[in-house]
Order: sequence, then structure tokens, then C-alpha cells
Amino acid sequence: MACTRCGNHQAFSYDRVTCTCGGSLLVEYDMEFASKTMTKMAIQSRSASIWRYKELLPVTSSEDIVSLGEGWTPLTYMDIQAIGLPVSHVWIKREELNPTGSFKARGMSVAVSLLKERGARYAAVSSNGNAASALAAYAGCAGIQAYVFLPEDCPPLIVQECLSYGARTFRVKGLIQDSGQWVEVGKQLFGWSTVATMKEPGRVEGKKTMGFELAEQMGWKLPSVIIYPTGGGSGLIGMWKAFHELKQMGMISDPLPRMVSVQDAGCSPLVTAMGKHVTVLEAPAATGMRVPRPPDLGLLVRILKETGGKAIAVSQAEIDAAQRNLGYRGVSSSPEGAATWAGLLKLCEEGWIGSDDSVVLFNTCHGLKYGKSPGLESVPLLSNLNELFNKTS
Ligand SMILES: *Cc1c(COP(=O)(O)O)cnc(C)c1O
Repeated sequence: MACTRCGNHQAFSYDRVTCTCGGSLLVEYDMEFASKTMTKMAIQSRSASIWRYKELLPVTSSEDIVSLGEGWTPLTYMDIQAIGLPVSHVWIKREELNPTGSFKARGMSVAVSLLKERGARYAAVSSNGNAASALAAYAGCAGIQAYVFLPEDCPPLIVQECLSYGARTFRVKGLIQDSGQWVEVGKQLFGWSTVATMKEPGRVEGKKTMGFELAEQMGWKLPSVIIYPTGGGSGLIGMWKAFHELKQMGMISDPLPRMVSVQDAGCSPLVTAMGKHVTVLEAPAATGMRVPRPPDLGLLVRILKETGGKAIAVSQAEIDAAQRNLGYRGVSSSPEGAATWAGLLKLCEEGWIGSDDSVVLFNTCHGLKYGKSPGLESVPLLSNLNELFNKTS
């Protein structure tokens, strides 16, 4: 593993991922060895999952791979001509189509495979919701008992989802960092393995595959802008790492996309760290973007600067409007996914994105997971034809 801050190398470790200098340690591979078998041609005939890139994933034996078919999600072209956005092309990466309905499946497939490899019996995570349900599913599949800690305002369907996959499920007062202490206690007292982001090597590596897929699906080209809803930031770190790895292997030559982090105006530590003040008008909603203290803010700032990207905040009203907009285009978007559309509109308006740009948005989760109640009262109930004519005229 190599430190992203001081460059020092250390032996691979399942749970030591912070360097003595405080920087994050990321997994390194023998690129020359990997490029012997991971060729553009060879991977074409492999499984439609993240494991098509197995040379650059840290699991040694294929028997330990815990997979539910995560990854290889569609990259859908969006017809934006009709609304006159001044952009060349827009695609949306359909991460809601992953197992458990979010891109968190990618990271948990790798993290749980590593747990299986080391013979772990218990795994725990404190999460805003999607990491918890993904851990629940993958741990269940591997015969590992999951313990998940959720904020008290976690969307009810996600809580139910965790239960249905067999996780011991708890709600905790406060935000994600407050429930982190429960995991630490369980680690000390009961020997749980923690799968918090940037606390073990698997999750960043799994999320990295979004970058590989993007390149492969675009014919080994890259868009000029990526808009990604950012919480802890391991998705962004993963994709940045993926692009560098593909470059090292000579599989892509385009410059890295300008990476844009979208955050909730009520919780936007990355926007602040990039030197911008955000006027907070409302409390942040319970979404994957609500992470007040990302584990390696310094690295995120470096990535945004290195790629010429930026961090922006969007309001709840903008997210709501974007969700409707994507809905009318047939895409069920979570608040986080919708935030990327809201970000696109904002950056077009500012002129930061222009007619030369090709943009990829990430719909990180399915909208249905955030439903509060079915709300059947608002849907007309018909008992005869006359009512239909009355309602539609
Ligand atoms: C976790 C999560 C995010 C934030 O992703 P990071 O890679 O942790 O920054 C965004 N959207 C959804 C739906 C999430 O579950």
C-alpha cells in the first residue's frame, strides 16, 4: 500500500489504512503483471460485474469473491437538446441498478470478500443507510453477521432493507460520526471488523470500478466533466485512482475529467475546504451526502484541484426539482443522484460548463429507497368508468 500524502510504502493490511504521517494508504498493484492479462480485448468476454477488472482488485483467490452481480451498470445518454442546455453531451451512470439499489454494493462486494479471505465472522458499519444495507446483503451472502448503525432519521425503507438481509440493525441519535463510536466499542469488545470508508482497503477499491467502467463504456475515452454527489468521498478518490491506473497501463490517454463534488447546502465541508462560504439555510437531509467530517478532506481537495474541478452546494428545493425532472425522463433518482442534475444546471448557468463539454452524472441510488409512505391517498381510486372520465377531463 502507498501513502497518498508522503509516498511511503507499507505491506498490505486489512485494517491499517492510515500512514504514520496521517495520509491515506491505498492499494498498489504490479501494473506490468496486471497488464499482461487485463487487456481491452480480454475483459470484453468477462462477467458483467466489477470482477471483470479482477487484476486490479485486492482479492487473491476467486473462491473468496462475494458477488451479487454488482457493477457494469448502464451509461444512459440523455437527450438534453429539448431543454437547450449549452452542453455537448450528457450521460447518466445508472448506479441505482446495482444490487441493494446503490453504488455502495461495489465497495461492499470487495470489502466483504476481504473479510471472507481473512476469516472474519462479524462486520460492522455506521452509515447514513446505503452502506449499511449493502453490508447487510453481502455479509449475509458470505455467512458473516452484520451489525449496522443508522441515524434516527434514516429513510424507513432502508432500515427495513437492512433487517430483511439479516443485519442486527440499530438506530442511533445524532449523525454518522456519532454512531461511529458504537462500532469502535464492538471492535474492542466483540472483535467486529469495521468496514467504515477509508478504514479498510476494500471499499475504495470497489468504488474505483465506476471509473474503469466509465472508460470502457465510452470506448476508452473520458468525458470532460464528472459530477458526483460527495459524502465521505471514497467514490471520488476511487475514480481518480482508477483513471491513473488506466493511464499507467496505457489503456487511456485523455486528460482526467474535471471532477465536481456536489454537496447538500446544509452540510458541505468540501465546499468550505475549497475556500467557498456556503450560507446554510436548512438542516441537511438524511442522505449519503451528509458527512460533516470526511476521513481525508485533504486528499479530496487535492483531487478537485489537480483535475481542475470544483465543489458546489445545492439546496433542498433544487434537489426536489431535479428529482422531478429526472423522473419525467424515466430515471428514478435518489436525492444524491438528483443533486448531480441540479449541479449540472447550476454550472451551465455559471458558464463553468460549456458547449464543448461532455458530462457524466452519477445517479448513485434508487429513488424508491427514500419513499416515506406510499401516499396512496393522493392517487385516485376508481370504482366505475364515469369516475375515470371525470378525473381525466
Ligand atoms: C454514500 C453515498 C454517497 C456519497 O458517496 P461517497 O463516495 O461516500 O462520497 C452518494 N450517494 C449515495 C446514494 C450514497 O449512498
